[in-house]
Amino acid sequence: MDLYEYQGKQYFARFDIPVSNGAVAETVAEAVAVAERIGYPVVVKAQVLVGGRGKAGGVKLAADRAEAEAHARSILGLDIKGHVVRRVWVEHASEIAREYYASFTLDRTTKLHLCMCSARGGVDIEQVAEEEPEAIARLQVNPLDGIDLAAARRLAAEAGIDEEALDGVADVLVKLYRCYVEGDADLVEINPLVLTPDGRVHALDAKVTLDDAAAFRHPEWDEWRDLSELDPRERLAREKGLQYVGLDGFVGIIANGAGLAMSTCDVVEQVGGKPANFLDVGGGASAEVMANALEVINTDEKVRSIFVNIFGGITRGEEVANGIVQALGRVEIEAPIVIRLDGTNAEEGRAILAGHASDRLVSLPTMIEAARKATELAGGPAR
Ligand code: GDP
Ligand code: MN
Repeated sequence: MDLYEYQGKQYFARFDIPVSNGAVAETVAEAVAVAERIGYPVVVKAQVLVGGRGKAGGVKLAADRAEAEAHARSILGLDIKGHVVRRVWVEHASEIAREYYASFTLDRTTKLHLCMCSARGGVDIEQVAEEEPEAIARLQVNPLDGIDLAAARRLAAEAGIDEEALDGVADVLVKLYRCYVEGDADLVEINPLVLTPDGRVHALDAKVTLDDAAAFRHPEWDEWRDLSELDPRERLAREKGLQYVGLDGFVGIIANGAGLAMSTCDVVEQVGGKPANFLDVGGGASAEVMANALEVINTDEKVRSIFVNIFGGITRGEEVANGIVQALGRVEIEAPIVIRLDGTNAEEGRAILAGHASDRLVSLPTMIEAARKATELAGGPAR
């Protein structure tokens, strides 16, 4: 789960990483009230899960009430790369002497944590990485050792951080590491990490990706989950406990097993169709699970046909077929359905489906034939 900047800053604050005083607002009036309370100058910042807000007009400094009001008005509702701004974060503006960069993430190749630090923060760090990779100092951190102040300070020095900021940056790096490890994050990034003219080191931005696999030990994450920018189809699928990823095509896909679900998407593409989603119903295909899956797909207005691709393993073909038939009785499905059932007791399963066949419910023995039929029923290949 990706956190909004303001949530990331709240998370940072728990680990003593210095951030500015501020609050989140959903209306212009609320934003002005926050600005009045914390004192000018303030910075008004769009809260969207996408970078480059500054360049897109989503980060603005305000010296007084009139400016705070004008900026909140222009930023709320703004579209930043397809993300509409619903909330702004208003914080006391900092004076900036220098802008740095700091992050921790997992290096999957070396199976170690990776710390990156640069004196070239604020700007597009991807561009720095590409054009001047030597401007970013890197340190692999063994999780058994962690990172201490001395190592953090050496890395900061290697990154070219100014002398007067070395202790402050080292201190932030050690705290950021704790936030990353104890806070169960996959990524923590501060860009810019600033040095103020009076010598303080301070996080002006926050990018945090939490490790969803660790959610069970963080009940406090739940309040953030409710606000996350989920696709409504994905939200419903999550409530139903299904592995679902929304795509933008028109053939709804239901398969058992992630590998089969991916192959199903590929085969649909291969015959000129476009998958509307990836949906893995897991090992079995009970009536309950199938009904849930069909219900989620049914809410997708772009779906013009549904391709159910089930391979019976431990679950036998007749159980799968009965599950599908029962599910169809429970959910009113708008799109025609093509089923490919194979594996254990496939014949028995197909015999059950044959008893319910119509031009809206077609059963075909192979994946490629079923993909072609589903694409045809959806109105033919994509143009
Ligand atoms: P991003 O563009 O989405 O990464 O948003 P940031 O939070 O990084 O803000 C973009 C830029 O706005 C920063 O690099 C700063 O230069 C500037 N900025 C943000 N907060 C402040 C602030 O408190 N004071 C000043 N002077 N500039 C700020
Ligand atoms: Mn930034």
